[in-house]
Amino acid sequence: MTNKNAFKEGQFILDTLESNGFEAYYVGGSVRDYCMGKSVGDIDITTNALPKQIEALFKHTIDVGIEHGTIVVVINKTPYEVTTYRTETTYSDFRRPDSVEFTTSLKEDLARRDFTMNAIAMDKHFKLYDPYDGQSAIEDKEIITVGNPDERFNEDALRMLRALRFMSQLQFDLNEDSYNAIKKLVSNVQHISVERIVQELKKLYKGINIEASKRLLIESDMYKYIPFFNRVGKDDLKKSVVHTLNNEIIIQLLFNDSVSFKNELKLSNEDKKYINTSIQLYDDLKNKLETVIVAYKYDTMLLKNMLKILSDNSALNINMEDDLLEAIQKKESLTIQSKKDFAVNGNDLMNSLNKRGGPWLKELLDEIERQILFETLPNDFDAIIEWVHNEYH
Ligand code: ATP
Ligand code: MG
Repeated sequence: MTNKNAFKEGQFILDTLESNGFEAYYVGGSVRDYCMGKSVGDIDITTNALPKQIEALFKHTIDVGIEHGTIVVVINKTPYEVTTYRTETTYSDFRRPDSVEFTTSLKEDLARRDFTMNAIAMDKHFKLYDPYDGQSAIEDKEIITVGNPDERFNEDALRMLRALRFMSQLQFDLNEDSYNAIKKLVSNVQHISVERIVQELKKLYKGINIEASKRLLIESDMYKYIPFFNRVGKDDLKKSVVHTLNNEIIIQLLFNDSVSFKNELKLSNEDKKYINTSIQLYDDLKNKLETVIVAYKYDTMLLKNMLKILSDNSALNINMEDDLLEAIQKKESLTIQSKKDFAVNGNDLMNSLNKRGGPWLKELLDEIERQILFETLPNDFDAIIEWVHNEYH
């Protein structure tokens, strides 16, 4: 959604909070993206209302972390994170503040945020409150920590990975002091949970300047503190092409070592399934499966993603691109898109042949499917039944 329109529903939240005597502002990525003239994603709101007070004002809320001051307010099925102004006290494990303290000062809330570009607040009239000059950073395309980078990265190691993710996502440069701080403190990345690492890596590999982030990932030795990447090593990582599509990560290397990739990075079942299907498609292409069958077995998104992987990567692409293109073209004109489109079903066949179900039924259905796809048999009830009686006893 572009710009101002994206904030329409959020405005209801600001209005409600303000008419009950509280302050409320948009904050974080949505304000940053708005300032950059980019389309705006998730909208975060910051307020001096306490979590219980937020909950009391809205019909549909979800408590996602009341102790951290965050309540999700749902408006027309869209979730908005509403967070109470807070400051963070000391960090002793490099990843979570020992305690969270609420504050009544917006400026203090902005001070605990990671980068100046993410520490801009905006009111409902689109007026900006920008005490750390995030707007200049956005203009200069620079990632600058709010306050001293050594301290800020030392408090929370995830911020180092976030810096790399924003380099790729926004095509921004990393400020020199922040860069030096990362070099010094990079080993703290080992304390971050792998789930949170993967969350940031996905955004990194979805970005537009993957190369720059990858260079820094290697140059700063950060890869040494990330599961799987540490074993892959510098040279392979340099050569690797990673694609993130549909929020899934696929790494070229997974074709060699997909089991450890999935396990060491603790990928979700959804991610695992996506990777498995991609590998299956790759193998089918390698084994020269007929393009009609390829078109039938896989959805268009997956086929197109594979095309991107192959065209970016000559080592993987062993004359498969033409077949893949053909499959994508055939997708539209297939006689059936799935078994559901069959003019007959298993019951029809059992009744017609007067036979009970069994392994034969699946075999027969598979054969009919093949014939229909290759158009040697029309997808027509009478024609199929006739064929079955003639060919199958
Ligand atoms: P995106 O566009 O991907 O949503 P974002 O900047 O909104 O990027 P989020 O992870 O949604 O990133 O976080 C929302 C805001 O919370 C950030 O903009 C930043 O102000 C703050 N924030 C998030 N993570 C941290 C962190 N580790 N340390 C300090 N502030 C953080
Ligand atoms: Mg966000």
